[in-house]
Amino acid sequence: MVSRSLLSPVAAAHYPKSTGDFLAWFGSDVDCLDYLEWLRWPDGFVCPRCGKSGGWPIRDGRFCCAACEARTSVTAGTIFDRTRTPLTVWFHACWLFATSKDGVSAQSLQRTLEIGSYQTAWAMLHRLRAALLRPGMDLLSGRVQVDETYIGGDEPGLRGGRARGKKVLTAIAVEMHEPRGLGRCRIAPIADGSAASLHAFIIDHIEPGTTVVTDAWQGYRGLDRIGYVHERHSQRAARAREEDPDDLLPGVHRVAALAKRWLLGTHQGSVDVAHLPNYMNEFVFRFNRRRSGSRGLLFYRLLQLAVDHDPVRYRELIANPERLPTPRRPPTGRGRPPSVERPPANRPWRVPTDVRV
Ligand SMILES: [Zn+2]
Repeated sequence: MVSRSLLSPVAAAHYPKSTGDFLAWFGSDVDCLDYLEWLRWPDGFVCPRCGKSGGWPIRDGRFCCAACEARTSVTAGTIFDRTRTPLTVWFHACWLFATSKDGVSAQSLQRTLEIGSYQTAWAMLHRLRAALLRPGMDLLSGRVQVDETYIGGDEPGLRGGRARGKKVLTAIAVEMHEPRGLGRCRIAPIADGSAASLHAFIIDHIEPGTTVVTDAWQGYRGLDRIGYVHERHSQRAARAREEDPDDLLPGVHRVAALAKRWLLGTHQGSVDVAHLPNYMNEFVFRFNRRRSGSRGLLFYRLLQLAVDHDPVRYRELIANPERLPTPRRPPTGRGRPPSVERPPANRPWRVPTDVRV
C-alpha cells in the first residue's frame, strides 16, 4: 500500500471543497479531532516519545504506544496543545483564515465566532501565523530581485496618529519570471543593511547559483564570491537601458507595496513591531499561493502545518509585556468561547481512496 502522505489530497474527500462541505464535515469536536488525527498520522499512530509506529486509542481519546506505553493526545505537541478553545471554533478560524483572500483580523475573528476576549482571538491567529513558515522551505531560484525596505509601524496621520510601533527594516526577495510576472517571495527582518545581514538573508532564502539582482548598495558586494551570479542595477545603467532610474527593482517594490497595503487594509496598520515577522509569514504564505484556485486546499495545508508545528505558548507570544495586544473593548471574560457544535459528520476523509467512485 502506498503511504497516504505521498498522495495528493482530493477535493471534497480529503479537504472541503466549499463552505457547505466545511459545515457538514466539522460540526463537532470529535469530528475535528478525528480529522487532525488523520492529518497528523497519515499512516497510523506514531509515538512522539519513542518514534515507533503502532498503538491503540484509549477511552479518554488519547493513544497508547504499543512500544513504550506513553499516552499521547492527538493535539499534544501541536499548535492546538492544551487549548481551551473548542476545536470547532479553531476549525472555523482556520477556515476563515484560509478562505478569505486577505485573511482576517483578530477583531473580526472575535466578533464572528463570539470569542470571549480579543486576546484569545489575537493569540489564535498568531499561533496559525507561526505555523506557516517552516525551516527548510524551498529556496527561491531562477532570477531573483532583492532589496531592503522599512515595513510596519503606524502611518503618520492614521487614526489619530498613534505612534506605538516603529518601522522594521526588512529584506525582500522575489522571483522574476520571463518575460514578465512575479514568482514566489520571501520577507524577513534584518538587523541592518550591512553585507553580513544581507548575505545571511540571501543564503537563507535563495538557491546558490541563482542570478541575484540588486541595486548598487555596497551591502550586496561579494555575492559572486558566495556562489551567486550578481547583477547590479545602477541608476546610470538603467538610464542606458532606457528604464526608469527611480524604479531599478520593480518586482521587490511591488511586493513591498502589496505587503504595506495588506497591513493597512486587513489589520488597519495596527501591527506591533514585535509581531511583524509573524504578519510577514502570513503575507508571504498568501502571496505565494495567490494563484491557488482552491481555498479548501489552503485550509488543508494550514491544518497540516498546524499539527506539524510545536506548541506556541501565550507567554511566548507576549514575551515583552509592553507589547500586549490592545483590546478594542474590555474583555467580556476569559475561558471557553461558546461551542458551535452540530451533529456528527460521516467523515468522507476516512473513506479509502480506491473505494471512491
Ligand atoms: Zn512510544
